[in-house]
Amino acid sequence: MSTENFLGEIKKIPGLRENVPLSNYTTFKVGGPAKFFLEGNDPVIIQKAVKLALMAKLPFSALGGGSNVLVSDKGFPGLIIKLKSEKCVLKSADKIQADAGTSLAKVIQFAFNKKLFGLEFAVGIPGSFGGAVAGNAGTSGHGIAEFVENLIYLDKQGNLRTCEKPQLDVSYRYTRFKYTPDEIIISAVLKLPKLSAEESKAAVKDALAKRSWQPKGAWCAGCVFKNPANNHAGRLIDQAGLKGKKIGGAEISQAHGNFIVNSGTATAEDIVILISYIKQQIRDKFGVQLEEEVRYLGF
Ligand SMILES: Cc1cc2nc3c(=O)[nH]c(=O)nc-3n(C[C@H](O)[C@H](O)[C@H](O)COP(=O)(O)OP(=O)(O)OC[C@H]3O[C@@H](n4cnc5c(N)ncnc54)[C@H](O)[C@@H]3O)c2cc1C
Repeated sequence: MSTENFLGEIKKIPGLRENVPLSNYTTFKVGGPAKFFLEGNDPVIIQKAVKLALMAKLPFSALGGGSNVLVSDKGFPGLIIKLKSEKCVLKSADKIQADAGTSLAKVIQFAFNKKLFGLEFAVGIPGSFGGAVAGNAGTSGHGIAEFVENLIYLDKQGNLRTCEKPQLDVSYRYTRFKYTPDEIIISAVLKLPKLSAEESKAAVKDALAKRSWQPKGAWCAGCVFKNPANNHAGRLIDQAGLKGKKIGGAEISQAHGNFIVNSGTATAEDIVILISYIKQQIRDKFGVQLEEEVRYLGF
């Protein structure tokens, strides 16, 4: 079959859409269209789509809640697989299993309802469960990937595989899936520690208090930069006097230096230029090389 034929087959996948604006699927609210766009969490359908994309030589990428990505104004010239689900089940007394496309908030609430505590640090983090696992999202010295026992994913060749905890390679805001958006996490099992309801309540209060400064309802993608060793990216940006700096419609938040906000008219290019300006200023002023936490798609 020719590439054209494979493209024709992709278009026949139930639910597949073409030229879908990704700005509607990211919290920055910027980004051009995906050539092909598939929503769901069914491993059989996703696998079929990935195999066809491979045969058609089309790039493909996972997308969760879009709360930690910057999508190019040109969009993505291949297949976006937007993980979407509601599934979360109790596996055993201290384990839950959830689809990657289930929201992280729903997974946390499910655990609380089952009196399984330990995820309090992640209360208030937007996005999907799979996106959180891939990037080891967290706060206060914890990351969600610490609790993953194993997960199911599609490798780059579209084969379904299992990854056990030791192979996840977990560290600060990192797992082996962080920079491989063409390895798609389908579901994961969490094993939760035993915490009392009182400890849990206090930890939720703490997590919400730590989040109270965040710009409410702003179009942003959380912290743009990772914290450099023994320092805080937001503090350095503040000390450099950069809060409020604007390029086009992109602005460094007055509430927190590590947040870039789309004031309504930003393009991805505005945000990229502002990121590069911040990096250059911080390098010149403090000799520190900032590294992006946000991931780029379609650049
Ligand atoms: C207001 C706000 C506050 C935030 N606070 C925090 C915080 O306290 N701590 C924190 O860590 N983060 C925070 N974030 C960032 C973000 O919410 C997290 O990083 C979140 O876990 C990203 O998940 P997502 O589903 O939105 O991922 P996306 O943005 O959709 O994707 C991010 C990356 O992960 C990949 N990916 C997504 N799903 C999968 C999958 N199933 N398989 C493989 N790869 C996948 C994507 O390809 C992309 O490269 C915040 C963001 C906002 C907007």
